Amino acid sequence: ATPTALMVGTGRGAQLGILIKGPEVLESTRRVDTIVLDKTGTVTTGRMTLLAVHTAGNADEAEVLRLAGALEHSSEHPVARAVADGALAKLGALPTPEDFANIPGLGVQGIVDGHAVLVGRERLLAEWAMELPVDLERAKAEAEAAGRTAIAVAWDGEARAVLEVADAVKETSPEAIERLRELGLTPILLTGDNRAVAESVAREVGITSEDVIAEVLPQDKVDIVKRLQGEGRSVAMVGDGVNDAAALAQADLGLAMGTGTDAAMEAGDLTLARGDLRAAADAIRLARRTLGTIR
Ligand code: ADP
Ligand code: MG
Repeated sequence: ATPTALMVGTGRGAQLGILIKGPEVLESTRRVDTIVLDKTGTVTTGRMTLLAVHTAGNADEAEVLRLAGALEHSSEHPVARAVADGALAKLGALPTPEDFANIPGLGVQGIVDGHAVLVGRERLLAEWAMELPVDLERAKAEAEAAGRTAIAVAWDGEARAVLEVADAVKETSPEAIERLRELGLTPILLTGDNRAVAESVAREVGITSEDVIAEVLPQDKVDIVKRLQGEGRSVAMVGDGVNDAAALAQADLGLAMGTGTDAAMEAGDLTLARGDLRAAADAIRLARRTLGTIR
């Protein structure tokens, strides 16, 4: 393509809400055949809400919300915001943790009112040799079957509650995935979330369950991209989180949600300004047209 065509292409991209790092990006955009989509914040809105609290034995709901909410208040994760906001709405105020640590892809841990508290995936509890009692295990399974994310809460060495949170698929996501398919791409859903939740989102947007890669730790997302590249695919990755930055950089084409984190936008080749996945299809169509490979 001529320099003029490239300039026109990048200019047209800007009009469509696609910010392109440089004209050379159009070449890799044209070639991609597989598109890996982060779930939370990319395919879904990422604005989660707390829907239910299931307590075990003698745990009191207000205490669960106070301890879990206090820890999650220090985290930026969409799940954490849902828990903290839900707790604040019920209790009005939350204590300040004496200690706090974020464990990427797993949850948070810290000390609140002298209690050692964990909030996160069952796997986080397992690392401390704790497991969910049967009634909470059942609540978790039911929540996940309904497409919700179940978060465990433990303190002083015992699992005490399961919290149900959920976010919604973006209205534009099903259409975006249809358009990506029309362009000949294979969409793959990639998430750290539970398999049942991931499959429910996939079903809603038209991704087959074989193309769902779930329960992936943040640092392992990049290996998934490498594995797909190893199969001879040219891989685009779309993400919004700090967690996605390495995978965005590894991908043949990294697309960052403009509504996401700065880390994702720095790592990506393209930014979808409006956080609308349909712009990913627009970008590919535009690149093909600019480089003269489309009807
Ligand atoms: P995704 O890949 O969908 O963007 P993450 O890798 O950030 O998700 O997180 C994966 C899972 O880890 C979440 O679905 C949630 O179950 C758990 N998790 C992560 N951070 C937190 C937190 N602060 N509080 C509770 N659970 C968390
Ligand atoms: Mg995300």
